[in-house]
Amino acid sequence: MAAGAEYDLVIRGAEVAGGLGRPLLAADVAVVGDRIAAVGDVPGRGGVEVDGTGKVLAPGFIDVHTHDDWAVLSEPDHACKVLQGCTTIVVGNCGTSVAPGGDRMVAGGGGFATIGGYLDHLAANPASVNTAALVGHGSVRTAVIGLRDDRPATPAELAAMRAHVEQAMADGAVGLSTGLIYEPGKYAPEAELQDMAEVAAAAGGIYATHMRNEGRGLLDSVAETLRVAQRTGGKVQISHHKASGRGAWGLVTQSLAMIDAAIEAGVDVMADQYPYTRGSTLLEQVVRNGGLDGTSEEEDLTPGQVLIGAAPHHPEWEGLTLAELGAQWGCTGREAADRVLEGEGRACMVILDTMTEADVETVMAHPSTIIGSDGIPLGGKPHPRLHHTFPRVLGHYVRERHVLDLPDAIARMTGRSALRFGLVDRGVIREGAFADLVLFDPAAVADTGTFADPTTVPAGIERVWVNGVCVAADGAHTGARPGRPLRRG
Ligand SMILES: [Zn+2]
Repeated sequence: MAAGAEYDLVIRGAEVAGGLGRPLLAADVAVVGDRIAAVGDVPGRGGVEVDGTGKVLAPGFIDVHTHDDWAVLSEPDHACKVLQGCTTIVVGNCGTSVAPGGDRMVAGGGGFATIGGYLDHLAANPASVNTAALVGHGSVRTAVIGLRDDRPATPAELAAMRAHVEQAMADGAVGLSTGLIYEPGKYAPEAELQDMAEVAAAAGGIYATHMRNEGRGLLDSVAETLRVAQRTGGKVQISHHKASGRGAWGLVTQSLAMIDAAIEAGVDVMADQYPYTRGSTLLEQVVRNGGLDGTSEEEDLTPGQVLIGAAPHHPEWEGLTLAELGAQWGCTGREAADRVLEGEGRACMVILDTMTEADVETVMAHPSTIIGSDGIPLGGKPHPRLHHTFPRVLGHYVRERHVLDLPDAIARMTGRSALRFGLVDRGVIREGAFADLVLFDPAAVADTGTFADPTTVPAGIERVWVNGVCVAADGAHTGARPGRPLRRG
């Protein structure tokens, strides 16, 4: 602390969002060390004084749905998230985690023996953001049974899988995730999901699920998810809630009604969402599930709807659709898909144009929805949600479209997210909470990334602090890495 100063930092006169949805309130916020020391009229001087007049000060955004497990190790500055105001990420989504030994949606391979080992590694090698981890059912099943074994687990295997989840929860994982369109998650019958989710629930963790079918079978998938939640009695999170593919458009009205009914019946269910009408996943998954052959149970795609986002061995393919590649190569788009898979395998991520704007807004407006990017930090042209999710909600959906009001939108990125994932003293601005903060200009905040140019810096994010340390100022990273692993308390 500077001589004569009573606080390390005081941000003065911003409109403060507490993180729980109440109206903004003009106030000063003072920080000592890694915690908020005072909120209100702060007479004492700060070692650093920041003028927040005309700006909004919010808790740092919590990205509850990421695939940043490896990126936060290999690029610890994690600028893609820090520059959009994120101060905490939840990794291990869609069934894939670094432990035990997972290497699926997160390239880099290898893995850790345990979630505890991963969190310890993060403590010793800090990143700029805080990291909480889910343990992935797919990674557990791969370790115990294998990636491509299309059969139920034996009782001995089930016991071994349960032991892995128990270990992860004891290590401080915030819950369990599944990815039921991917191998090996798709081979797990409902009873197995229930068995695993029970372990997470017993430890107070959440069960987050990329459901079996987000297309024509959306409602059956929601029903399965709700049955699991009902039986375990634990928290359940529907990952990236959406209706994918023209045949499914409009079904979110019914899936939201099912969620409402379940909440009324006492089920603790919520969902997360990224604010775009395009999704992104592995090309391999699209091909293996018959998405290009008219045989998918989920959705039918044309080669023109499939855009290459990541092709690390052939960056010249990135930014082109399968239809465009086929035209270049004198083959069909379907054949182009095979050729891309031969060249890239699991490294190829694609962007799929499959949703409708009305559904995105319907899901966003529902009280069960919080925000998570689902960004995939791979390749040269990743889906822009990786860099722009939070500014896009605040700019496009709050300021321009009025789908949410500002305090409500912020709560869905901060306080409600922290509560959901058991992150204690995070996601709120109050005395004693951790000083994870973002100062932004509500008139200017906006996503600037496009599908052609997705890795730009968002507009209007002026300052970001993690544990009291400034990690970004005026769109530039400061180089500070004050992030911590967050273990479920
Ligand atoms: Zn997913």
